[in-house]
Amino acid sequence: MPTQKQTLDPSVYQLKVTLNGSKPPIWRRIQVTSDTRLDVLHQILQVVMGWENYHLHQFMAHGVMYGTPDPDFDLDVENEESVTLGQVISRAKEKLIYEYDFGDSWEHEILLEKILSPKAGENYPICVTGKRACPPEDCGGIWGYYDFLEAIGNSNHPEHEEMLEWVGEEFDPEAFDRNEINQMLKQIRSASQRFGHLPPRYAFVLNPYKDARFTKCPQCDRPTRLRKFALLVHVDDLGLIAQGKTCRFCPECEMLIVHQDELEAQLAENLSQLEPQAIGNDYLVTGTIERKIWRRGLNQPVPLDEMLEHAADFEAVLQVESQPAGWYRA
Ligand SMILES: [Zn+2]
Repeated sequence: MPTQKQTLDPSVYQLKVTLNGSKPPIWRRIQVTSDTRLDVLHQILQVVMGWENYHLHQFMAHGVMYGTPDPDFDLDVENEESVTLGQVISRAKEKLIYEYDFGDSWEHEILLEKILSPKAGENYPICVTGKRACPPEDCGGIWGYYDFLEAIGNSNHPEHEEMLEWVGEEFDPEAFDRNEINQMLKQIRSASQRFGHLPPRYAFVLNPYKDARFTKCPQCDRPTRLRKFALLVHVDDLGLIAQGKTCRFCPECEMLIVHQDELEAQLAENLSQLEPQAIGNDYLVTGTIERKIWRRGLNQPVPLDEMLEHAADFEAVLQVESQPAGWYRA
């Protein structure tokens, strides 16, 4: 078990993440708070490196493995959801290994460069800098990656055409866009906060496609129903509000699907009475709230504490992707 080293105020860890075996190195410098749970750090690493989160992963530090315990596997892993970064490494120069995709075995060294005090007004995690593109998913590990680069860089290479076709688009090994990464990290920032006090439930899909109705569930293909939910929405510069919304619902998968354009129109209407300046602000649908509380809130404001007592965060937030034969979970 990790030793408990709790501090009241989380400090900020500056981490250098390097993809082992990469030459010249593929690396990122990031800042995260020491109270970041390892399951959230996994999401952060996926974003900053540029992986697509298709595969399994695990962390290792001081001889202990952290991941998602699987009853079918006899591996001795600590549950990453119950451990924070600060409990695993706590001194500058300490290291942690993050392995992604046990097939290709992408090993990342995570070095704690320094421990900082949080800067006022700064939101963590952030990507400070970095270099070079993430290898394409499933290219066969670090050696496979260099074979791939050689093939796409040399038009006489026997696999030149095949590899170009496989990667599907131009691939620039030097590409790195810090701003794009930081935009994506904003999503994790909000999603890693827990709001509701009830146990998480429902999978949630915000559907950006106006022409996709989802009369069938994108996960199990059974017909969906229409059902009204009270959603809990976090609006930037305003906070949490409850928003009644008719959703497509798959009872089998406990999945809610909401049309983004409809939701935004209804939010704007709701906000026009509460706080018109907040219309158009970034928002995040965090979960559901019991309908009786939402209904009461239509007549008189419900204190935030009470709202959260009756709210549940989503268990999962999913994306959908169009494929020739229909819609599938991305
Ligand atoms: Zn379903």
